[in-house]
Amino acid sequence: MQVRLDILGSSGGYPVLGLPCSGYRLSGMGQAILLDCGPGIATALFSASETCRLDAVIISHMHPDHILDLIPLGYGLLNEWVCAGRTSRLPLRVPPGGRRFLEQLSGLFDHRNWRFGEEDRGPGHAALREIMKKGEDWLLTVFDIEEYVPGDTWNEGDIRVTTAPADHSIVTAAMRLEAGGRTLAYTGDTRWRPELAEFFAGAVLLLADAHLSSANAPGGAHMTPREAGRLARIAGVETLVLCHLGSPADGESARAAAAAEFGGDIRIAADERMFLL
Ligand SMILES: [Zn+2]
Repeated sequence: MQVRLDILGSSGGYPVLGLPCSGYRLSGMGQAILLDCGPGIATALFSASETCRLDAVIISHMHPDHILDLIPLGYGLLNEWVCAGRTSRLPLRVPPGGRRFLEQLSGLFDHRNWRFGEEDRGPGHAALREIMKKGEDWLLTVFDIEEYVPGDTWNEGDIRVTTAPADHSIVTAAMRLEAGGRTLAYTGDTRWRPELAEFFAGAVLLLADAHLSSANAPGGAHMTPREAGRLARIAGVETLVLCHLGSPADGESARAAAAAEFGGDIRIAADERMFLL
């Protein structure tokens, strides 16, 4: 059983030096799950295909660098419904308040008032036409939006998803995804929070927020690379991947800072795009 992690983007705050913002795709057990969908992620998702090939999207928190490309992803899904007969909604898991947030955002684009013609363009087009006649918003139709509370656990196919509260400026989830006995841990955006070390115990790979990666980092409710290293050491993971750096250029200094706490394998998400768990 091979579990694969693709770093589609990991830039913190805004996409810079060709690196999209947060977006991590876990593939395994016949599933592909996207964690977060920041600016640039839709470009990465559709770079090799006109279809997104995802089975679910899980959003850690509703900050722009983690959600804004849900809009172009939704347009990609719309294309699948209209032109390729798709009728299944893509599961989208969001933290508390996420549904209302997306309703308001989509409302700004007036997606509720689109109309689809009576011509026969296949089942997806016909389904959308009927849904829209009821006054629904198409963006909220191509996704199957469900809210979770950090602390909730559920299954996406055969992948077990467990969440826990992170410590950020808005409600944010840290998460574990277990596939075929291999576990990916993802901090989301968070300050140092000792409870996360226990939550992440036994994970193979920890994807950790290390936004405070230099004295010039913008600041905010994040960890330093050294704190990310401490988290990796206490949790006992095999590999630490530092993500969401203040700048992609901070990789080597961030690695050295994390190594002061963690003696295991340390990688930089901005520099390596694929890992096998
Ligand atoms: Zn962020």
